[in-house]
Amino acid sequence: MRYVFECLECGVHYLPPEGMAYSDGPASPVWCTLCQGLMCERGIPEPAAAAAVALAAAKANLAARIPPDEEARRPDVRPSRPAHTRRARSGPSSARSKLG
Ligand SMILES: [Zn+2]
Repeated sequence: MRYVFECLECGVHYLPPEGMAYSDGPASPVWCTLCQGLMCERGIPEPAAAAAVALAAAKANLAARIPPDEEARRPDVRPSRPAHTRRARSGPSSARSKLG
């Protein structure tokens, strides 16, 4: 059972290993590996309350997640990247190759 967390420091989404433990120590539910290392260097302890909230949120996310096979059948509705349309694929470059 693996949880996805969002780093409080840099906002990146990361997936700690199962059991919340890296090869060199415990994983943090609030910081990614990079930030965890930085905080450790600075001597800043992990915020316990935020860690508990992050862990609960990750568990809730996991429970609400769609099974992978069902997710694959759904259309990708993420707005982050424009969909590749038929028009986009048949741009000037493909027209040129047809002429030549
Ligand atoms: Zn981070």
